Amino acid sequence: MTTTEADSVTQDTDHDDQATVIGTLSPSRAGDFMTCPLLYRFRVIDRIPERPAPAAVRGTLVHAVLERLFDLPAGDRTVAAARELVGPQWERLVAETPELATMFDDDVLDQGEWLAQAGRLLEVYFTLEDPRRLEPAERELYVETVLSSGLRLRGYVDRLDVAPTGEVRVVDYKTGTAPRAEFERRALFQMKFYALVLWRLRGTVPRQLQLVYLGNGELLRYTPDEADLLATERMVEALWRAIKRAMETGEWRHRPSRICEWCDHKRRCPEFGGTPPPLPDITDPGEPADAPPPARALADDV
Ligand code: SF4
Repeated sequence: MTTTEADSVTQDTDHDDQATVIGTLSPSRAGDFMTCPLLYRFRVIDRIPERPAPAAVRGTLVHAVLERLFDLPAGDRTVAAARELVGPQWERLVAETPELATMFDDDVLDQGEWLAQAGRLLEVYFTLEDPRRLEPAERELYVETVLSSGLRLRGYVDRLDVAPTGEVRVVDYKTGTAPRAEFERRALFQMKFYALVLWRLRGTVPRQLQLVYLGNGELLRYTPDEADLLATERMVEALWRAIKRAMETGEWRHRPSRICEWCDHKRRCPEFGGTPPPLPDITDPGEPADAPPPARALADDV
């Protein structure tokens, strides 16, 4: 699908102009609650900072390179050009967030090898798509809408392709492997979440949702329809009610899974013998409305 240039800013539609905002949710944090309510609590309610996780930071770096790659003239978008972007993009990320460099402080992680892994993931990308034949309409697009219930949904779409016919494809890069069944639900939920927001914003259901798995070189494609997105909307609303219930009762259940392997909160998690800190004195169980949502998070790319 080749694409054309499009607006870089999206606006709420008439549909939601009248709604009073009751809370804010991004697909990453919604996914956290579905995976483990206690993880959601640590991140959104307690707002406990996390140490940079090498796999997640590598995902951020690869995303940054793929975003910048499309700044180059189409013919120059080669593997070599992508590799050349790795160093400068890493330097930019560290300049913006110096604590990222602390991943290498204890000498357990070799920075050269870690950067080489990012390069290998980019090589895989070129086996799945030919960026010389693509002109994304949008990259790292911030989208936001307010449902009629007042729940604000927002997040970043990695890439939006718009065909000359107007059909929209939502593309998300993952630096992990294609999901086993337990993770496929979360990955597709994230994509349907974006599709729902875009549908509400633009009035058209995206034609295709495409997950690009760089870890094992697979594409996962899905064609949503209105019924799908209405079901996603009901699911998001139900999720929000469950989050509010947890806030009211103070019961944030921990749910162990493969995600625990990467979780930075083990030492305060009952599953691993820890004790959560006292709940802070706040009443809004959603994400802070004034702060941008995290573009990437632990386990989003694994
Ligand atoms: S360690 Fe596992 S169970 Fe505990 S909070 Fe983290 S993800 Fe949840």
